[in-house]
Amino acid sequence: MQALLELQELDRKIAVCRAEEKELPKQKDKYAIHRKRLAAELKESEDKCKQIQQKQRECTGDIEQRQEQLKKYDTQLYSIRKNEEYKALLHEMELMKKQIAIKEERIIALMLEYDESKAALQADKERIEGEVKKIEQECKVIDDKLHVLISERKELEKSRGPVAAKVPHDLLSRYERVRKVRTPAVVPLNDETCGGCFMAVRPQIVNEILANDKIHACQHCGRLLYHVANLETSSADAHGESIPS
Ligand SMILES: [Zn+2]
Repeated sequence: MQALLELQELDRKIAVCRAEEKELPKQKDKYAIHRKRLAAELKESEDKCKQIQQKQRECTGDIEQRQEQLKKYDTQLYSIRKNEEYKALLHEMELMKKQIAIKEERIIALMLEYDESKAALQADKERIEGEVKKIEQECKVIDDKLHVLISERKELEKSRGPVAAKVPHDLLSRYERVRKVRTPAVVPLNDETCGGCFMAVRPQIVNEILANDKIHACQHCGRLLYHVANLETSSADAHGESIPS
């Protein structure tokens, strides 16, 4: 029974490791979300620059178009005979020139805007790179922890064989069966109740457990039962402190 409890403790530790191995990578989820957000921020900053460049192109195209039109008007001017028409066209040309001047001012404003956005983009890039680096470091810490955890668990698993070998074969297979459905599979008998499900154990079985005659399972939950006092005696035996005749 002592060896079985030792095995159970080992199995418990292995299970704790496995649970942590499962949980640990989840800590990286928040970093993945953070990374996505940073990527979105960077894209937004880049898009802003591109949008300004696009507006600049539109303005330039607009000016070119109007200048083209202006040239046409200029040639038309010479073929016009009527004074009224001549005046009207001149007026139209003035208007066109004003529109061009407005667009040119707009281009200058856009150039300033672009310089600002570009500087902001550069600053964003540097900040985001720094944050990504930090995230990578944090993720590495998690990966390292996981690595240590896995090797610890493998060590525990390696030591399991020799511990299991100390448990009598039939008891071991009973333990393995119970363990699949209930953990801990081995529990103490407390005041005639099962230490696992807390239900009363039949008096006759209680007596047999107390007498240390046989290893019984709880009739309610199937866990294997032991009496703590018996355990202490057998552990004392193991240390050679009291040898019963
Ligand atoms: Zn029980």
